Amino acid sequence: MTSKNPHFSITLPVRGSCTLVGAGPGDPELLTLKALKAIQAATVLLVDDLVNPAIVAYAAPGARIVYVGKRGGCKSTPQAFVEKLTIMAVREGENVVRLKGGDPLVFGRGGEEMAHLQAAGIEVTVVNGITAGLAAATALGVALTHRDHAHGVVFVTGHAGHGATGTDWRALAATAHSARLTLVIYMGVSKVAHIQDELLTGLPGPTPVAVIQNASLAQQRHTVCTLAQLQSTMAREEFGSPSVIVVGDVLHGLAAMRTTSANTAGAGPADSGLHWADARI
Ligand code: SAH
Repeated sequence: MTSKNPHFSITLPVRGSCTLVGAGPGDPELLTLKALKAIQAATVLLVDDLVNPAIVAYAAPGARIVYVGKRGGCKSTPQAFVEKLTIMAVREGENVVRLKGGDPLVFGRGGEEMAHLQAAGIEVTVVNGITAGLAAATALGVALTHRDHAHGVVFVTGHAGHGATGTDWRALAATAHSARLTLVIYMGVSKVAHIQDELLTGLPGPTPVAVIQNASLAQQRHTVCTLAQLQSTMAREEFGSPSVIVVGDVLHGLAAMRTTSANTAGAGPADSGLHWADARI
């Protein structure tokens, strides 16, 4: 290699970009502006399960859209294939957006995917999305960390299997009880009987539970019951995926908030004698 040769030139590999974008829980209005801009600028979109088609519709007319989830037509595209596709497209100079439901790094293998891409020398930008657990709580008007009822919140998967590699529900129940933590369970529908039995070893049967299906979408529905009734309620009311299960006393907070707002309805500035303009910061 010499810089004296006037004919010497280096052809740099064409490099595109890779952005892991959170599509949020479903409602397109819950997309961030960054997410929207990334979707519109993408030349290739690799779209996961649970991404609302109304969000994919923001893609540029010429963009290539590849559905890589079970519900997208493929029978669960293997993760390695998705990563290979991403790497190839970036190396060909495409602006790749990997569109994932909720937040791209909350469950759904987003962390693994990012690590594999980075290991292949791909720079990954991440755009947050509103995770389903937050949207589900908001759908009910529940504050997951209402300080009268909880000191924190745990997002946990119900899908991690049993035994040594699975979630230790007993430990979690005992900790949630003593440390006053709300549990937000993702992917818990198929294992709900097991989850209920295990949680009941550390949490009282009357602990309130809510199940929210399709949070933020037009077909959103929910049910509220006790932990002891969880599995039977879900079976009777035919709750399926995608649902989030919220467990904890913050659901009492929902009732409290309703009572409070009913009691204070109409008690605006005129009633209190206060005016916002009088406030000094
Ligand atoms: N990254 C996603 C989670 C992927 S795991 C996020 O941050 O939201 C998939 C699980 O998310 C589903 O099994 C379900 O438990 C939950 N989920 C996703 N979208 C949902 C929705 N709109 N309503 C309720 N639960 C949802």
